[in-house]
Amino acid sequence: MITVPEVGSEGLKRLQSAHVTIVGLGGVGSAAAFYLAQTGVGHLRLIDQDIVEPSNLHRLHGADQSHLYHPKAEVAAETLPHYAPWTKTEPIIDTLRASNVNELLRGSDIVVDGLDNFRTRYLLNQYSYETSTPYVFASAVQNQGHLGVIHPPETGCLECEIPGVLDRPEESCESLGVTPTIIGLVGGFAASEVTKILLHMQGGLMGRLLTIDTVGPDFVVVKVPKRKGCRICDGDGSKPELPEADPVTILCGGRVINVLPKLPLSLDLDLVSRSVPDRDILAVSTAVLVYRKGPIVVSLFHTGRMLIEGVEGREEALQIATDTWRQAAGRLAALA
Ligand SMILES: [Zn+2]
Repeated sequence: MITVPEVGSEGLKRLQSAHVTIVGLGGVGSAAAFYLAQTGVGHLRLIDQDIVEPSNLHRLHGADQSHLYHPKAEVAAETLPHYAPWTKTEPIIDTLRASNVNELLRGSDIVVDGLDNFRTRYLLNQYSYETSTPYVFASAVQNQGHLGVIHPPETGCLECEIPGVLDRPEESCESLGVTPTIIGLVGGFAASEVTKILLHMQGGLMGRLLTIDTVGPDFVVVKVPKRKGCRICDGDGSKPELPEADPVTILCGGRVINVLPKLPLSLDLDLVSRSVPDRDILAVSTAVLVYRKGPIVVSLFHTGRMLIEGVEGREEALQIATDTWRQAAGRLAALA
């Protein structure tokens, strides 16, 4: 195989033995995953809680219409080896939260951020600080993207530069839109930064933040110094408590609500699906059952987690979830 001088056969071996975790397999995450696989990274752990919807096909790398309503993590894990048979993929269909962040990220050489919210980014940032794992921060909205590499204790952290952001659905890419080109650029740059870290190359965006605007186009790089008083980097040595996720979370511009059961369930979705009319079922696998319920689209994961699209608010979503869990439990008990 012919390689560029910076990689060489030694570098390829290093890439092949690397374990990279991508959290969020939407636009930026799927683009980063694609380029990392193509570059030769041997192990990709792909964490995402969401399914492929018609409105996000234009920004996903590797997904087509046949993947509609399937979990994004599973779709990426299945399609990437077609392009890169040397890459092993490990899909995890779950919500990253304080109670599982250590378990889900354990063993990662680098963590890449393909997220759409700061609540979860702050979890990655804190994990990165506590375990000294490099964290590639990435985001894209409209024509603009941001990218930085954080590696405490050498660099400052995400909260040194961008502290206390409260996620507002009206400012998400679902509401404001995002161009496929900025997604490709940010995902490509993220993969390139990961490669440089794995190959121990100097420079890059370590401790710096890149802003890209495709309209100009403009590329601006600023240093991210450690900030005095940062909750994470400049504390008294005690661990700041990780915020636990609200069991009911509004996602994607307010259109979709994620509801977690109090304790994870273990549902046989094939059995559950028998109580749903065939014409209403959009997809069913061991991981997720997606179906229409009047104007609402419900995704029921085997852990009991639900994504509910088209409801008025959290109360309605919680009511639908509670009814669904009760019916699923009753259905399974009746068939046992
Ligand atoms: Zn900090």
